[in-house]
Amino acid sequence: MTGIDERLAERYATVTQGIDDACRAAGRSVDEITTVVVTKFHPASLIEQLVSLGVRDVGENRHQDAAPKAAALAALPLTWHFVGQLQSNKVRAVTEYARIIHSVDRPSLVTALGRVDRSIDVFLEVNLTDDEGRGGVQPDHVMALADRVLEVSALRLAGVMAVAPLDESARAAFARLRAISDNVRTLAPDATAISAGMSGDYAEAIAEGATHLRIGAAITGNRPVQA
Ligand SMILES: *Cc1c(COP(=O)(O)O)cnc(C)c1O
Repeated sequence: MTGIDERLAERYATVTQGIDDACRAAGRSVDEITTVVVTKFHPASLIEQLVSLGVRDVGENRHQDAAPKAAALAALPLTWHFVGQLQSNKVRAVTEYARIIHSVDRPSLVTALGRVDRSIDVFLEVNLTDDEGRGGVQPDHVMALADRVLEVSALRLAGVMAVAPLDESARAAFARLRAISDNVRTLAPDATAISAGMSGDYAEAIAEGATHLRIGAAITGNRPVQA
């Protein structure tokens, strides 16, 4: 049994309280929220401690780092979410442990996911910045991408995902994501999930209807210094 670091437990309690408060302020129930703890940069031992604290959903953004952790912790009751840029040639390996992909942003990736013969939950990552080079599909192309996902029977369209731009209020950006979600739901009524909100802006995301928070540093602490 791994001992639990007190500061980790404190940070987790603080964020849990923050989520409660934001839900109350928004007139929402915490039951609507799934908190995905993003554990990138951190070792499997930290994830074990999170499980002891009650965490069941973890997120990773790099296959090379995630795969050994997922293998080491395969016996734990964890759901693995993939939240980072995903290359088509890594799809098969990533979906060995992660059945929820938050970062689907192009048709070729949908095709690659469709070739994996297992059911996968898909979030469409939307680029909310003015920079077309950033990750995520442009808002104008979200509906076409949603159509592509709906054509593949093994894929379930969960909803939309975004990271708030740095040069705009998070609340305004998440309001735009919510409008995009409303639009997608005219095509796919079950695609009700909204993956938005990180350590610094989860309250704003909750206010704009987020169902899946992706929270890293506020819970895990900063990236450990390499020994
Ligand atoms: C790292 C990461 C997060 C968590 O960010 P924090 O600011 O540490 O909470 C959320 N989403 C994605 C896509 C990430 O890469």
